[in-house]
Amino acid sequence: MRFLGFRDLTVAYGAIQAVRGVSFSLERGQIVSLIGSNGAGKTTILRTISGLLRPRWGEILLNGEPIHGLPAHEILARGVAHSPEGRRVFARMTVEENLLLGAYTRHDEAGTQHDLAWVYSLFPVLGERRAYKAGLFSGGEQQMLAIGRALMSRPKLLMLDEPSMGLSPIMTERIFETVQELQAEGTTVLLVEQNALAALALAEHAYVIDLGRTTLSGTGAELLADPRVQAAYLGEGVPS
Ligand code: ATP
Repeated sequence: MRFLGFRDLTVAYGAIQAVRGVSFSLERGQIVSLIGSNGAGKTTILRTISGLLRPRWGEILLNGEPIHGLPAHEILARGVAHSPEGRRVFARMTVEENLLLGAYTRHDEAGTQHDLAWVYSLFPVLGERRAYKAGLFSGGEQQMLAIGRALMSRPKLLMLDEPSMGLSPIMTERIFETVQELQAEGTTVLLVEQNALAALALAEHAYVIDLGRTTLSGTGAELLADPRVQAAYLGEGVPS
């Protein structure tokens, strides 16, 4: 059975159709990347999976069960966590308070404390500054915090929207290494990324989204080698 599947997903903001009949699927334990230009509809797809938006048409199945009518907190409780674009952390709350918010659907204190320690081991800077207000942090640190908060629900599916945006190359590498470590621990990852080279290099499977539709799909390696992808999304970064 597919872990996550979409059929004919159509999402609109009023009269603007942002996603126009997208169908694709993820197998358990895969890293799947969505690439495409600005405004293609990638963020809208993630927000719809999270339950923040309702599809106008189509369905989203998690382990064969429809989730597209459920409220966001129930989708989170089923193991789907979302680290949103633009590092939306709560600036006036401390690092630890932000992380604990990610665990609000859980009711196991011991497991939550264990996972706090786990997130601090993934991102030591968060542990060192756990009592500081998140608003004092650099962009990269806030990005780590947004990812850490998503991890605090111990998701089966982790969705990351532009995790490398605004980060230094070293920080970006650390984030992508973490994605691979999470996959090795069994987490399925759906990644939206402007850095198409890195997103395709990481992904078992990837989709190109353009104007709300899936225009190309294949393994990460296939898309990296595709001249259409190279021309449109890889620019200077075409691998030799
Ligand atoms: P980006 O990388 O720039 O975030 P994206 O591929 O994630 O791009 P979306 O943010 O999903 O694209 O946007 C898809 C389309 O929906 C765009 O045309 C965008 O202008 C429109 N859109 C997004 N959010 C809203 C909104 N809140 N209200 C109206 N239109 C929106």
